[in-house]
Amino acid sequence: MTALLEVEDLTARFDTDEGIVTAVDGLSYRVEAGETFGVVGESGAGKSVAARAVLGLIDDPGRIERGEVRFKGEDLLSMDESELRSVRGDRIALVFQDARAALNPVYTVGEQIAETVEHHLECDPEVARDRTIRLLDRVGIPDADARYSDYPHELSGGMCQRATIAMALSCEPDLIVADEPTSALDVTVEARILDLLADLTDEFGVAVQLVSHDLGVIAGTCDRAMVMYAGEAVETAAIEELYYDPKHPYTAGLMSAIPRVGDGRDRLPTIPGTTPDPIDVPSGCRFHPRCPFAEEACTRRNPSLVDPETGEPATIGTDRAAACLEYTDGLEGGLDYSVEIDGATGEHAERGGDCDG
Ligand code: SF4
Repeated sequence: MTALLEVEDLTARFDTDEGIVTAVDGLSYRVEAGETFGVVGESGAGKSVAARAVLGLIDDPGRIERGEVRFKGEDLLSMDESELRSVRGDRIALVFQDARAALNPVYTVGEQIAETVEHHLECDPEVARDRTIRLLDRVGIPDADARYSDYPHELSGGMCQRATIAMALSCEPDLIVADEPTSALDVTVEARILDLLADLTDEFGVAVQLVSHDLGVIAGTCDRAMVMYAGEAVETAAIEELYYDPKHPYTAGLMSAIPRVGDGRDRLPTIPGTTPDPIDVPSGCRFHPRCPFAEEACTRRNPSLVDPETGEPATIGTDRAAACLEYTDGLEGGLDYSVEIDGATGEHAERGGDCDG
C-alpha cells in the first residue's frame, strides 16, 4: 500500500564558494498516515534540508539533484510552483524552530491564522475568526478570544510555538513537517509542546515528520525514526528497536549520550570528533573516523542501508535497516556495544570493545 509520503533517492546539493556541498545524499524513507516519524542527527546531518526539500523549499544556490517525493502517490518535485503552493498549507503544513520569526510581526496572531483559514477553507471572515479562536484554545493558549488580538511580540516563545501549531492545523493537513520545533524553548515548555503535538496527532489523525538533533525528544515522541549522518541515512527502525537495540554504532553512541533519570553516571559518554566537512566527506563509510569499530574496509567501502537480519538491500518499505559493513559480512571483528536503558541492557555483541565514544 502507498504510504502518505514516500521519499526516494533524494539528493540535494548546494554550490558554495568553497565547493559543492551534498547536503542530502540518496535519502529514501516513508511516512505512514497518522504516524509520527522522527529524523534525527547532529547539526550538519542534512535533516533540515531533507525536510525543506520535501516541500520544494530549497533556494538558490541549492538544488534538488535527483529523487522523488511522492505525497499520496503524486510526485511533488514535478509540480509547478502554484501546484506546490496549494499542497503546502492545504495538505502539508510546516512548523519551524523559530516560531516568532515565522509569524508576521505587524499582524496579530489571530489575524494571521484567520487569513490562512479563510484562504484555504474558502470561508467567510467570521467563520475563520471563530475557527481560529477554537484552535488557539485547543493548543493551550489561555483566554484565546483576547489573545486573538495579540501581536507576536506580546506572546512568550512557547505561546508563539503554540500559535504556529494552531496555524499548521488550521487547514486540516494530512502531514505536519516540524523542523526542530522545540529547540529554542526551555525544557519545561519543550515537554509541554511535545505533549501537545502528540495529543493533536491522535486527535486530528495528522502525521508528523519531526526533525530534531535530540534523540531523547525523538525517542519520547515518535513511532519510527531515521538516523542521519553526513547527509545519509544510517539507520531506520521502530522507536523501541532504535532505543533498546540500535544496530548502527552511531545510533548506539547517540543513545548512550541520552541522560536518564537515576542512571548514576558521573559523565555522559560522547561520540569523539565532529561531523565531517560537507565539502570533504571521508571516503568509505562517512562515520569511520569516529567509529570505535572501524576497520580498513570501512575506509574504502560506503555501506548501503540493508536489513540487518538478512543483509538484503533496504527498500522504502523496509521497517528495519542499518548501513554498516557488519551486516554484509564486511567486518572482520564485528560490533560490540551495549546501551543501558533504565537498568535493562540492550546488547549487540560479537567482540570486545565499547561504544561510549
Ligand atoms: S561500516 Fe565500519 S566505520 Fe561504518 S559504522 Fe560500520 S564499523 Fe563503523
